[in-house]
Amino acid sequence: MMVRPPQLRNDCFALPSGVDWLPMAEALDRLRQRLGPVVGQEARAVTEAVGAILAAPAVARRGNPPAANSAVDGYGFAGPVPEGPVEFPLVEGRAAAGVPFDGAVQAGRAIRILTGAILPGGVDTVVLQEDVAREGNRIAFTGPLKRGANTREAGEDFRAGDALLPAGHRLLPQDIGLLVAAGLAELPVFRRLRVGVLSNGDEVVPAGARAPEALGPGAIFDANRPMLLALLARWGFDPVDLGCASDDRNDLRARLDAAAEGADAILTSGGVSTGDEDHVSALLREEGELQSWRIAIKPGRPLALGLWRGVPVFGLPGNPVAAFVCALLFARPALELLAGGAWREPQGLDLPAGFEKRKKPGRAEFLRARIGTDGRVERFESEGSGRISGLSWASGLVALDEAERHVRPGDPVRFLPYSAFD
Ligand code: AMP
Ligand code: MG
Repeated sequence: MMVRPPQLRNDCFALPSGVDWLPMAEALDRLRQRLGPVVGQEARAVTEAVGAILAAPAVARRGNPPAANSAVDGYGFAGPVPEGPVEFPLVEGRAAAGVPFDGAVQAGRAIRILTGAILPGGVDTVVLQEDVAREGNRIAFTGPLKRGANTREAGEDFRAGDALLPAGHRLLPQDIGLLVAAGLAELPVFRRLRVGVLSNGDEVVPAGARAPEALGPGAIFDANRPMLLALLARWGFDPVDLGCASDDRNDLRARLDAAAEGADAILTSGGVSTGDEDHVSALLREEGELQSWRIAIKPGRPLALGLWRGVPVFGLPGNPVAAFVCALLFARPALELLAGGAWREPQGLDLPAGFEKRKKPGRAEFLRARIGTDGRVERFESEGSGRISGLSWASGLVALDEAERHVRPGDPVRFLPYSAFD
């Protein structure tokens, strides 16, 4: 089974004319509406499928539990039992998990039964062994006990034929347990999305390529590429290292061409503004498809969205903080759709601000933040988007929406823990 999905349309990132600034929510909506799976499907053993994205709903082949059984170790009989003391003579034999009692239990009699054992004919109720006095082959206990007490009904969790998980769901460890219980052995999943990461800039030096002492003051280490590669791996994509291009059209073209062969999507960082050395946007505009989305957020703009030889390119800003934040906010949900997954909004929580901030309305802002010992949200001392240390200081982001003008200490703010983007 290998179904090739359609390619993205050339105009998938196009904006209507006259659109200048895009509010964040609208930018996300556009991505959500226009992107879909670009990878084929394959069959995968359930036991190998953690982290994979379902290409079709997972439908139970077997109910859970498959048959009515006992939830405890005790004695089974036909219920209910009225209030007051009762006595039951025991039948010969017992019912255990995997070793059912073959026969029926007559009304007025009880049988020894263990957890997980199928209820024998005539048994619909179980009394806990701790509540019973036993002498020889008689038991006594005190009612009342409802019919069905301490038993599990066949299919009470789910039945054969029930849809358990939808297409687009990314499988977690607990899902593997569920699907195995439901009798599934193989699943249709999407092939893992390969995402290339490319840096660019004459000043940018690959990690470890030179000793720090040997670098001129104008050079900087390529922080973005290993950071983005690590994010992609964490999100369940297949990261592809495309290296670092110089500020040279031919170098960049060659790397993008090579990337388009092996990757399903490309993330670049830097070179997407309109400066003389912003070759990523220039090249995409001239020889590919490019749309510069001016999204009303800080940090972030600009975000370049384009296609190179049919492969979608997300041009992230060069500043590491902006590259990281835009990767979380835009690249992650977009890539999840390309990978066949569902659209996912990060789950935030409202917490009191431990700071004061005045803000220009009209654009959303994302502050590096963490939860203090007093349960309030602290923000990093600086909003400078070159301050990479703030990303590690923080444990998440505070999202201030467009309309916000003034946050006072104690005001509720939306905190998005980094884990909300996993
Ligand atoms: P640019 O958009 O290319 O002008 O880059 C904006 C800022 O981000 C500049 O200060 C760059 O030096 C910096 N920058 C670009 N790429 C990287 C990278 N891969 N790692 C760290 N900083 C970068
Ligand atoms: Mg540059």
